[in-house]
Amino acid sequence: MTGLPTAPDIPGARHVHSGKVRDLYERPDGALLMVASDRISAYDHVLEPGIPDKGEILTRMSLWWFEQVADLVPNHVLSTDVPDVVRGRAVVCERLAMYPVECVARGYLTGSGLIDYQRSGAVCGVALPPGLGEASRLDAPIFTPATKAELGEHDENVSYEHVVGAVGADAAERLRDLTIAVYERAERIARERGIILADTKLEFGARSDGTIVLADEVLTPDSSRFWPADEYVPGQVQESYDKQVVRNWLTHESGWDRTSDEPPPRLSDAVVDKTRQRYVEAYERLTGERF
Ligand code: ATP
Ligand code: MG
Repeated sequence: MTGLPTAPDIPGARHVHSGKVRDLYERPDGALLMVASDRISAYDHVLEPGIPDKGEILTRMSLWWFEQVADLVPNHVLSTDVPDVVRGRAVVCERLAMYPVECVARGYLTGSGLIDYQRSGAVCGVALPPGLGEASRLDAPIFTPATKAELGEHDENVSYEHVVGAVGADAAERLRDLTIAVYERAERIARERGIILADTKLEFGARSDGTIVLADEVLTPDSSRFWPADEYVPGQVQESYDKQVVRNWLTHESGWDRTSDEPPPRLSDAVVDKTRQRYVEAYERLTGERF
């Protein structure tokens, strides 16, 4: 991992955590302030420079999705009234006791899911029919939980039984059912708008009264695989809707060797512009709103 993030100072909030692209703060009233930066990561590196407006676009996209699934599950958003330095790209959220599970739903087979399938015929213990390959659409979406890795490590796929062991049988069942329900809703909405939602990672937490609440960011290209539906060709690796330009440039044009220890080169202005355009396009196609 290169390009360690720096989080801005925010009046009235204490910085508590930075991930690859987001910075987390705590307010005196106990609420959290989740700030999406313009940082972009690819191949496990945070790239330079950032993509202008990416933080705002993804924040708005996540808020829009929370609304689309609000009848299925409550969410952690309290307000978008935030300090000026982060206006537009931050959300005030209620602090929850997070379940230590990355709740992944997959409707298509790729990435670590495909690797597990090729090794065992199953993903996270969910047996799948033979003959599936890269980007195959599954008959029905599957719940493929993972445990969160430390910074720089990859998440590890785990079985449903593992989740039961970690959170108890009742919560595990609720998390699984909610994850699939949210995925199914979102997959349908995205498909109607020309975007395949191949898979997504959700995070849930509990209120002190035990209510399960959808947290973190949801259904953004940072937490999900978005593929352009009109370019879908099963059997081969699909281009990602948002990072296609960056990845193509890094691997084919920049001269960078991904397997070396060298950090990736600085993105060119043209690559930054085109990538920003992809995020705007994804937002506008999905939501039907102008950015
Ligand atoms: P990565 O860049 O790989 O995602 P990360 O998960 O450490 O790294 P972030 O996603 O930026 O970094 O961190 C956000 C953190 O806040 C996560 O640990 C997430 O589980 C947690 N979180 C999200 N929503 C809430 C909430 N409502 N209450 C408490 N914690 C939350
Ligand atoms: Mg995270």
